Amino acid sequence: KHSVALLLIDIDNFKYLNDALGHKVGDSIILSVSKRLQHACGSTVTLARVGGDEFACLLTHEDSGLSADEVAMSCLQSAREPIHIDGKHHQLSLSIGISLFPQDAASAEEMMRHSDTAMYRAKATGKDKFSFFSKDLKLAMRKRVETEIKLRTALDNNSLTVFFQPKYDLNLNKVVGAESLVRLIDEDGNITPPDEFIPLSEETGLIHRLGKQVLVKSCEFIAKCVEANEPFKIAVNVSAQQIANPYFAKEVEEVIVSTGIDPGLIELEVTESALMADFDQTRNVLLALSSLGLSLALDDFGTGYSSLSYLRQFPLNVLKIDRSFIKDMDTEPQALDIVTAIVRLGSCLNMVLVAEGLETELQFHSLRQLGCEYGQGYYMCKPVSEDEFTERFLNQAPIMT
Ligand code: C2E
Ligand code: MG
Ligand code: MG
Repeated sequence: KHSVALLLIDIDNFKYLNDALGHKVGDSIILSVSKRLQHACGSTVTLARVGGDEFACLLTHEDSGLSADEVAMSCLQSAREPIHIDGKHHQLSLSIGISLFPQDAASAEEMMRHSDTAMYRAKATGKDKFSFFSKDLKLAMRKRVETEIKLRTALDNNSLTVFFQPKYDLNLNKVVGAESLVRLIDEDGNITPPDEFIPLSEETGLIHRLGKQVLVKSCEFIAKCVEANEPFKIAVNVSAQQIANPYFAKEVEEVIVSTGIDPGLIELEVTESALMADFDQTRNVLLALSSLGLSLALDDFGTGYSSLSYLRQFPLNVLKIDRSFIKDMDTEPQALDIVTAIVRLGSCLNMVLVAEGLETELQFHSLRQLGCEYGQGYYMCKPVSEDEFTERFLNQAPIMT
């Protein structure tokens, strides 16, 4: 009959510290954090170490006279003071998730689960903070479960939908290809955008099946375009996890063979983060893909950990300038400078340049003037269904008079 708060406390980046500095230092950090927490929480709460670098703190307002956020705040504060180990200073921080009984949960198990969810929210929103479990979070969790079910069903039925956004030659103002963009559409016609299920499919490992299905559909579409006498090049997004799979190039080859298309009509788009994993493994996969005859594009260029060495060391053919720079180039001289520099960089390195997210006529003309050859964006055309694409851009036989 008491109301209880459960704080789940986790040391930020502990795994990194432990791996980088050694387990002895890791042990000292845990010891030191536990002492500080003990001090910060006071003697009226129950404090426990519940996992490697995880602590739980249980408190009742009646016993301690403190509220959960007051305790959380002093825990956070206690960790911010640098820790000295072997003559070195280490700056630490904590992430804390809080769940309340009886508001949030009906059992100890549920409280643990909910404070864990809240702790992940604290980490995801920047660390060194606390976060309460909330209705919103509960809704987000439920939505996630629903999305996962929808995604699994679509994968089982091979019913994911692929939209295509035309890519234009800016000088000729003519469609030369498209980017395939996956959509999850349920039986009621509700469309879930990829940002809502790609991260989920990466966390659950479903990305491999998803990627394969999108690739097959994209290749089938290439065959259809060729059939209609429009050998459009189609760009397919691939995620970091697919690149990390040593059999990826083999799988791509199988799809090319089974759909019977010219590999020169496929472009695979990878992001900078996909290139940050194991260097040799990544390079081998990219070289193997490249030797199949397809081209490789670096997507969202300029937003990740842009390292110019990628451009030299990986067999990349295309640079896609991120939408965020294009968006501001009309109004912010700095964004225009960055676009100008990327275009020069790309052309010096003999890479094809594609600008993403063109929304205005001014952007279209500026990019053309800067020497950026290709572009996609709402200004020309939004991503459209395969049927609409076919209707608008295929079978454009000149009308005989
Ligand atoms: P992306 O590869 O950078 O794709 C471009 C995104 O920008 C697309 O969003 C597209 O609809 C949107 N876009 C295009 N032109 C404009 C414009 O003028 N203005 C604005 N505001 N947006 C524009 P979408 O389709 O929601 O896809 C989001 C991201 O999801 C993609 O970013 C890509 O990273 C990922 N994605 C999409 N399909 C796949 C897929 O099949 N596999 C994987 N791994 N990722 C995918
Ligand atoms: Mg892309
Ligand atoms: Mg992009």
